[in-house]
Amino acid sequence: MRTHYLALMLCAGTLLASAALADTGSPFYGDPPDENHPWAVHDRNRPQPPLVAPGTPSTQQQPGKPPSDAIILFDGTAASLDKWEADKPGHEPTKWIVKDGAFQCVPGSGYVRTKEQFGDCQLHIEWAAPGKPEGESQGRGNSGVFLEGLMEIQVLDNYNNPTYADGFAASVYGINPPMANALRPPGEYQVYDITFRRPVYKDGKVLDPGHVTVFLNGVCVQECTALEGPGGHMRRSHAGPFPAAGPLKLQDHGNPVRYRNIWYRPLPPRSVEGGTDGALSPEATIAKRKQIAATVRDDAARLQGTNQLLRYAESLVYEKDPATMQKVETMAADYVTNVKQLTGEKLSAKKDEVRRIAGAFGYLTRWKILPADFAPKAELDKLIKQQGWDKR
Ligand code: MG
Repeated sequence: MRTHYLALMLCAGTLLASAALADTGSPFYGDPPDENHPWAVHDRNRPQPPLVAPGTPSTQQQPGKPPSDAIILFDGTAASLDKWEADKPGHEPTKWIVKDGAFQCVPGSGYVRTKEQFGDCQLHIEWAAPGKPEGESQGRGNSGVFLEGLMEIQVLDNYNNPTYADGFAASVYGINPPMANALRPPGEYQVYDITFRRPVYKDGKVLDPGHVTVFLNGVCVQECTALEGPGGHMRRSHAGPFPAAGPLKLQDHGNPVRYRNIWYRPLPPRSVEGGTDGALSPEATIAKRKQIAATVRDDAARLQGTNQLLRYAESLVYEKDPATMQKVETMAADYVTNVKQLTGEKLSAKKDEVRRIAGAFGYLTRWKILPADFAPKAELDKLIKQQGWDKR
């Protein structure tokens, strides 16, 4: 028990120590950028995630509030109809109706589509099959959510209503059944939370097959399901590229299914599409590292003294720019000359600064960003030892 307690304390201590170190703000800390990662580990130059105020969950009585950056496609008002049109050539208004805060399919009127086109997204959509079940199998409460107007996430009243598995509610229709049937009874609202990543191809070669994840009423029912083409009825679908963007379509399958609280958030580009997070190609990594280095150098130019020296040195982590390398060497040599002339209290006052700069040079030589025999590092290490600053 005691050993267990000690281990826990040690573990907590290590975590606290690493958190404390991480909070020093030193850029010479985590592993530096490499051939596939333009950012260092724990890189302070990496952009902060944007702020998003979260929304609220829905109840049966009331739709929840979308997150602050959501693009609203239907909010329960008749005005939302402006965002939709009939899925026909031209731009005809839809015959679907808004009733009691819901967007309802009028059987026989055809699919609806958003006027707006979008690609990779987080999509939230709620639907309810008619409260009085009619029909069986695919004939009961059937509609569908078509991402980019191509791939159907099935909408179907499967509550006590079996059908073929790859046509269930929340199936990728004709491709993959949901992992569970987590439906509520007909008449109640069902909630889909979907993330969609379209397949990406270049010169006929697949860079990312694309995938879709679906939560049905909070239950994960599709998890990164690879997109084998758009799916469909009866025919085997085959993998291939999707367009960059398309409308969201809702299906008229002859049942008066209702929808509410429809919104999406675009997802940032993946690294294969030019995004700068995740593992990048060597070419993209070099380009991004050059860009970060230039930003850091620009910032360094506005600083003075040791802050400037350290900021220029930091830029070398991303790009070993010869002019900056020369600048760092000269500034470091000048710094060493100046600090070595100090004595007594004036020298003692430099303890933390000298250790910080020596630490930075240590990091840069360890990662072969500066040469192993970088003279200012050796000089500062010698001074630290002489002064006993290396002791705790
Ligand atoms: Mg359908």
